[in-house]
Amino acid sequence: MNQANIIPYGKQSISEADIQAVVDVLRSDFLTQGPVVPAFEQAVASYCHARHGVAASNATAALHIACLALDLGPGDWLWTSPITFVASANCGLYCGAQVDFVDIDPHTFNMSPVNLEKKLIAAKLQGKLPKVVVPVHMCGQPCDMAAIHALSLKYGFRIIEDASHAIGAKYKGEPVGNCRYSAITVFSFHPVKIITTAEGGMALTNDPALAKKMTLLRSHGISSTAEDMVQRPLDEIWNYQQIDLGFNYRMTELQAALGLSQLQKLDEFVSTRQAIAHCYDHALSGVDIQTPWQHPDALSSFHLYPIQVTATSGVDQQSLYQALTRAGVSVNLHYIPVYLQPYYAHLGFKRGYCPYAEDYFKLSMSIPVYASMTEAQQHRVVDLIQSLCHAKVVKRLAGAAV
Ligand SMILES: *Cc1c(COP(=O)(O)O)cnc(C)c1O
Repeated sequence: MNQANIIPYGKQSISEADIQAVVDVLRSDFLTQGPVVPAFEQAVASYCHARHGVAASNATAALHIACLALDLGPGDWLWTSPITFVASANCGLYCGAQVDFVDIDPHTFNMSPVNLEKKLIAAKLQGKLPKVVVPVHMCGQPCDMAAIHALSLKYGFRIIEDASHAIGAKYKGEPVGNCRYSAITVFSFHPVKIITTAEGGMALTNDPALAKKMTLLRSHGISSTAEDMVQRPLDEIWNYQQIDLGFNYRMTELQAALGLSQLQKLDEFVSTRQAIAHCYDHALSGVDIQTPWQHPDALSSFHLYPIQVTATSGVDQQSLYQALTRAGVSVNLHYIPVYLQPYYAHLGFKRGYCPYAEDYFKLSMSIPVYASMTEAQQHRVVDLIQSLCHAKVVKRLAGAAV
């Protein structure tokens, strides 16, 4: 298969304006630690109706400093969804905490608040309640945040929304990222996500203390704010101190310039993704395959569009994967349940731990969706799936006239 003919499952859209924005920074005085990163932080925060944005080198770094800002450490538990990218769980391990998983809702593929509550009741009896819970807005569809937030008040945990898939999505009519139901929300700007900075991420919060802590940790734990510094000798003239153990998790000016320029197109990108999803919903409605259900409270940004084979599809996951791949349509599984990864299996997790997550793993695959996908490409994907799967059998009432 000629590389040019392969339809990827996801891909960035870069305009001449994006390129010019990056070139402008290259000709400017600052390649890092200049004015563009704060401008990008401000723009994303304002788009999402949050008070503070802290840009980072990637979403994984942002999740790490978000956990540290919430004082996650040894002896603590972080819970997340098993159907996510490994970073949503790894951030807990980086802090020396233990990680556990809450099974998904089989309709939304998001952390199920019902399973969360069951697990909280059991954990309370054992004195092992989580300090931090990380719901993941899987595929761009927001989680049931009102329910998870209510449980956080009852059981005393903090929430970090992993919204890596979901910038531009809405929950109950409000933008994801506003942190109405969480302490911190994290976005990823990896090229397959909704908007890109190549590598990059951002943590949003309404809490100035959390924003300050994350800003400190992002840059070595070094502060030059007088009130943060410990008493110095009077003849000390240098105005910075390392007051915490931080990292170099900074975003560059080049990345922020690309991000600011991409942000102009966010609404357009999301509506194009929604239109592609709508086209798939419609075109695949006659095929015996499960298309992704949407909760009425959620307006997904459709980072991913997962389909699931059924017992009567006429094709299993593996043969559908192979046939699509052979025909030049890249499909991928998002995701293998995190606890089945060898590293986590070594921590003691066993197959069967989260049955709904494992069903998802055995039946799903994400078909291509990205803002620059052409109609011809969408038709190629749809035609292939239609040719590989059985048509849906319309069930008739017994005895009804045909
Ligand atoms: C992509 C992704 C991340 C990590 O993002 P990076 O910016 O690549 O570090 C974390 N969580 C989820 C759910 C993701 O999809």
